[in-house]
Amino acid sequence: MLATAQTAIKDAAERLGYGPEVIAALLEAEAEHIFEIEVNGRSFPAYRVQHNSKLGPYKGGIRFHPHVNIDEVRALATLMSFKTAAVGLPLGGGKGGVAVDPKELTREEIEELARRYARHLAPHIGSGKDIPAPDVNTNAEIIDWMVDEYEKTLGKPDKGSFTGKSMAGGGSEGREAATGRGGVIALAEFLKARGLQNKPLTVALQGFGNVGYFFAKTLREFPNLKLIAVANSKHTWVQTGGIDVTNAVHVPSGTPRPEALHDLAHATAEPAALITSIKADILVLAALEDSVTEANAGDVKANIIVELANGPVSTAAAERLQGKGVTILPDVIANAGGVIVSYLEWKQNKEGRHWTEVEVNRQLADILTKASDAMLERAEAKNLNLKQAAFELAVERIVAG
Ligand code: NAD
Repeated sequence: MLATAQTAIKDAAERLGYGPEVIAALLEAEAEHIFEIEVNGRSFPAYRVQHNSKLGPYKGGIRFHPHVNIDEVRALATLMSFKTAAVGLPLGGGKGGVAVDPKELTREEIEELARRYARHLAPHIGSGKDIPAPDVNTNAEIIDWMVDEYEKTLGKPDKGSFTGKSMAGGGSEGREAATGRGGVIALAEFLKARGLQNKPLTVALQGFGNVGYFFAKTLREFPNLKLIAVANSKHTWVQTGGIDVTNAVHVPSGTPRPEALHDLAHATAEPAALITSIKADILVLAALEDSVTEANAGDVKANIIVELANGPVSTAAAERLQGKGVTILPDVIANAGGVIVSYLEWKQNKEGRHWTEVEVNRQLADILTKASDAMLERAEAKNLNLKQAAFELAVERIVAG
């Protein structure tokens, strides 16, 4: 993942004519915190990588997962710097994690782990320096513990030190739906630019977790876009007449997941892997990385792919598909809705305000529409694919500071 991100950055920087020193600075993390956290006699490796702060404080989540390691955290921190820059936010990029299986810890032990993580990093984070957020297996409750510990350690309040907090703890309206909603906004903007905004088009969606569910819900605002297939890790559900997600159950991330789609009346259940080869105009990938690779790229029938997960199309598969005329809406723009609303949460905390969901969604649409349009214009002007265009804009902004 790090190699893929670095290739995209290097290519963009070289096309823009930057020399080796500038490119090396873009790739290197400004700081890396690597430490151990002890909980009840067990020790867990912990990380926070602060990649780039030229545009503002570092921003990025903290994940609790047994596979977390320094290479993964570095890669995700690098991607965050280019995602915040690609959408024009006054923020940098960072990422954190603890190599732990939270299922093996009691609730009290998870709280202890979270508090020790925040205490160790307290001198290096804060609303003006580095603003962590939830990620895989972390949630608003865990972030609230971290904020509490951070504020106790510093001896002063700083609600903007973390985002993804509970509503009572200073969180923002609209955060849960933001990534899925942002994906619809980016898709709609692309269709408008191609003159397809009123054309009836079919949509297949892989992943029905937090991102996929809210994508499907928001899609109902565009009656010409018909959802005809949805997949989770167990099944692909197909209904060519259109799937109504009104009655589908949303199961929040991090909870044991029953069959979230069992309420879909009349849909046929097929194997999960079928989704990427469904005959639909648009394929939305909202499950995991490397979901389309060279192995299955040849089966893809969609002309438009929306990357809602991080890196769901491998580099080799992307080249092959783009060679056939498929357009890929890149993750740095398509899934940036979450980090945009995190930014709006931070802004509300700094200004001591709490906006309505309507206001948050208005600002989200405004920021993402501008970012999408800039990417589309750059791609058109320089005959680039959309990922190349997004990375060029991000690199330019970071270098200019
Ligand atoms: P989630 O855990 O809530 O949901 C993941 C979904 O993918 C589930 O429906 C699961 O059943 C499905 N899935 C897993 N394996 C699958 C497979 N092989 N085939 C089909 N479906 C499969 O996760 P999420 O929060 O919705 O995130 C989805 C992706 O988006 C992740 O890659 C995440 O890193 C990325 N992302 C999330 C956010 C956010 O705000 N949550 C922001 C940016 C990127």
